[in-house]
Amino acid sequence: MRSRAKELIDRFLQRASGGRILYRGPADVRRVALTFDDGPDKLTPRYLDELGRLGVPATFFVVGRDVELHPGSISEYLRGGHQVAGHGYMHRRFPRLTPGALRDQLAKTARALGPVPHERWVRPPHGALGPIDTAVLLAEGHTVAMWSLDSQDYDRAAPEVIAARCGPDRVRAGEVILFHEGQEETLAALPLVVEQLRGAGYELVTMADLFAR
Ligand SMILES: [Zn+2]
Repeated sequence: MRSRAKELIDRFLQRASGGRILYRGPADVRRVALTFDDGPDKLTPRYLDELGRLGVPATFFVVGRDVELHPGSISEYLRGGHQVAGHGYMHRRFPRLTPGALRDQLAKTARALGPVPHERWVRPPHGALGPIDTAVLLAEGHTVAMWSLDSQDYDRAAPEVIAARCGPDRVRAGEVILFHEGQEETLAALPLVVEQLRGAGYELVTMADLFAR
């Protein structure tokens, strides 16, 4: 699920980029960010209802093309107090794009989202980052929002299993937890995830808030 070596590399990249490539928030405050990739889709209203009921601000990384297919979704995310940012226009891996194609995908995603707070934040599809695309992202002023703990909720595990993967025994202060939209199992796991983290004294915040100093 995560290795010590990867954690060391992530920490190095976060520091070397001057905080422009983000993996894990400050360890001295008991705060955690829940993040959701790949929306919007037909389950988005239910994710927003559930998070609203739980009183949890989260961060959504959305696919530009799917935002165009779900007009009004961006204002719904924002109305819920959530952070929203781009996750590619076609969900193509950034290292496979030429710099020109990457810039084009970023511009189309920005157009689809419209003006949002933290509009230069981006999460690369599949978490794929190479040297050239990373240089393009940083040169264009983007903040690259990665994660520190993968719930692996794409394997269709039961809600209890997903929740156990991000239980207090695995989570540390500053954790950025990766989930996905569009999945009934993830939706059903949310109350469990939130209850156990709050029970362990964690405050749940947006990713921008987690890294704000
Ligand atoms: Zn994705």
